[in-house]
Amino acid sequence: MSRAPGGAVSISSGNGARAVTRARALMLDGVDTALSVVEGVGIVEADPDDMSVGYGGLPNERGVVQLDASVMHGPTHKAGSVAALEDVVHAAGVALKVLQTTDHVMIVGAGAREFAIAHGFPIQNMLTEKAREAWLRWKQNHSSTDDWLDEDQRDWDREGTKVGRADPKLVDPFTYGTIHCAAVNENGDVSACTTTSGLSYKIPGRVGDSPIIGAGMFVDNEVGSGGATGRGEAVIQSCGAYEIVRAMERGVEPTQACLEVLGRIAKKSVLQKRHRDERGRVNFNVVLYALRKDGAHGSACMLPSRSYTVADAQGTRSIPCAAYFD
Ligand code: ASP
Repeated sequence: MSRAPGGAVSISSGNGARAVTRARALMLDGVDTALSVVEGVGIVEADPDDMSVGYGGLPNERGVVQLDASVMHGPTHKAGSVAALEDVVHAAGVALKVLQTTDHVMIVGAGAREFAIAHGFPIQNMLTEKAREAWLRWKQNHSSTDDWLDEDQRDWDREGTKVGRADPKLVDPFTYGTIHCAAVNENGDVSACTTTSGLSYKIPGRVGDSPIIGAGMFVDNEVGSGGATGRGEAVIQSCGAYEIVRAMERGVEPTQACLEVLGRIAKKSVLQKRHRDERGRVNFNVVLYALRKDGAHGSACMLPSRSYTVADAQGTRSIPCAAYFD
């Protein structure tokens, strides 16, 4: 397969414009593709306003932020990942250290935290005020028969400054969110990474697809990369990223490869009634991303309308994803 036309190409989920721009600039300076994607997503991980990854990410049901991340380096076919990592902003950076400095692929929980400390990653409270307030509201709104008063049951206003009319209940959406970033340089070397705070308010210790090699991210340097965001359980159960790469290996175009895998995820997911809507279609979103070794790329979402981000010789731009269901 030919090399990436016009030099380096980087793609990401819709929230990754800063990541792909940075990743491509680094590759053009000769930086390795794995280092480039990890540094690119690091910008979003450190952003307190992005509630889907790193610092500022929404916490688990106990109010603790637990991060998942993975990275894979095509030229050495080596992967690194961490799951349920606490107190560290740059989960993708820790995953890169697993890749570079150990003979392992995945380190989780307290072990991942210890490993990060050993490598000099700073420890900090990951729960921003905005994320804490969203979590507390979610907790209080669970049930009107528990002892955590809903906003509309209280005698005090939301700020707790005066007694008066109860505030209407604010309900936060159940939140997914992740950044996947893949890159190919002008030699045709491919790397990818996926980093997330995972499903909001998850059961402590829940691990999604992002740190699972072959689910949330996969690279085969002879073919390209696949990645996923959205409902991780569905992606894990169909080995989403791995299947994207295998489809491209069979000659399927990148967007078509994503659609093919979404079709399989949809078919299997509706076997569980919780995931069927009234028309028998899946009721959740998954977005898949494909980057081929020659720089061709594509993305598709289960439900419209999503976009993905590309940085190449034409600049950084947002491109609509193909939709499996209209
Ligand atoms: N895939 C992530 C997970 O399931 C969440 C997301 O992408 O929104 O943890």
